[in-house]
Amino acid sequence: MYGLSAADEDIQARARAFADELIPFEVEAELAGGLPDDVTAVHKKRALELGVFATNLPRELGGGGCTTLQQVLVQEQVGRVTNALGWVAATPPSWFPPVATQDQLARYLLPTIRGEREECYAITEEGAGSDVDAIEATAYPDGDAWVLNGVKWHVTSFNTADYCFFQAKKINHSERVVGPTGGDHLLFLVDLPSPGVSVVRTPAYAHTISHHHPIVAFEDVRVPAANLVGAEGDGMLYSREWFRFERLMVAARCTGAAERLCAEMSSFAGGRVAGGVPIAAHGLVAGMLADSVTELFAARSLLYETARAIDRDPADVKTAHAQCSMAKLYCSEMAGRVADRAVQVFGGRGYMRENVAERFFRELRVERIWEGTSEIQRMIIARQLTSRGVSALA
Ligand SMILES: Cc1cc2nc3c(=O)[nH]c(=O)nc-3n(C[C@H](O)[C@H](O)[C@H](O)COP(=O)(O)OP(=O)(O)OC[C@H]3O[C@@H](n4cnc5c(N)ncnc54)[C@H](O)[C@@H]3O)c2cc1C
Repeated sequence: MYGLSAADEDIQARARAFADELIPFEVEAELAGGLPDDVTAVHKKRALELGVFATNLPRELGGGGCTTLQQVLVQEQVGRVTNALGWVAATPPSWFPPVATQDQLARYLLPTIRGEREECYAITEEGAGSDVDAIEATAYPDGDAWVLNGVKWHVTSFNTADYCFFQAKKINHSERVVGPTGGDHLLFLVDLPSPGVSVVRTPAYAHTISHHHPIVAFEDVRVPAANLVGAEGDGMLYSREWFRFERLMVAARCTGAAERLCAEMSSFAGGRVAGGVPIAAHGLVAGMLADSVTELFAARSLLYETARAIDRDPADVKTAHAQCSMAKLYCSEMAGRVADRAVQVFGGRGYMRENVAERFFRELRVERIWEGTSEIQRMIIARQLTSRGVSALA
């Protein structure tokens, strides 16, 4: 099905085997708030061995050199696993190689591709989420260093990462106040820990994973001039490129989650007897199964075609931007509907944390929020539809 090549099927099978190895650890992770570090380290080593790590980076840098479709096939399998256990099959920033200096490659990117370092992203602020341009974090040059200030929200993996990308606006030294400046967007590499970087607090979120999302303060943090990423003013460009990639990977993981849910709920519905027959024989339950697998097929077809279009014509960034938004919008909303039905099919069992449907029901909710909310995806899609016409998008 889907016209996959032998190479596609090979990497898909490796990723699927990897996901199947992780699934037995889900309930332990759910009840303990994550797995012990030594167990996670073993899983990460396995991801490296199986070639499902850094699939999005070029081979000459030590990455997998995979096509977009193959990256999607791997992340789809990662998505079958709850509690973010599959995140060890990481995708380091693929936008970085063309703009990284030799020094940045050596200190940050290459060790990340080898699995020795881990990054996190400090972009969102209390007053700036969907509207990234509203950030108030600042950066000013001081001798051969930059001085960074700002408070960042939801910094995913801050507790496991050892460096972060920090987005700020440029100010002059004399304006040493954090406030709206309208300046150029700048992106920096900040080692963790660094003097001046501190956790304000670590809120609890709906999912139970070992990666935290703390609010982090950056107070007069000095980074070498060599830690500025790319050119001044380009900070937003890289974030946009990353959003495009990550939206497609969100779509892939949501599709994998829906596949797992369809498999688990249909197996349960075939065995669970109520009123003398398997519940799958009750029309109202059968309808939930049928709707779920139909939406899964539609989502996967959209997802694979979006990936293939990028592989065919990587230069058509506009179309890719809209279609990645379409894939993220549809796949994340589809997975939410499937998880809701799965809880219903499992009945009381579906409300237990040891049940996969309950965990996905909570975990999938954020897929409609991070990397651009569903509303933002709709705005992007509608803007391109009205300016370029339907044939450009579908
Ligand atoms: C678990 C988690 C992890 C995260 N990890 C990171 C991370 O690692 N790094 C990071 O920088 N950020 C991270 N984020 C932040 C995430 O990207 C933002 O939460 C998201 O972009 C939405 O921003 P917001 O929360 O400020 O909501 P807002 O932007 O305040 O939006 C609130 C509501 O208004 C709607 N809205 C806003 N603007 C518009 C518009 N123009 N048109 C229509 N509707 C609109 C939104 O769709 C939403 O429904 C994370 C968030 C979560 C929940």
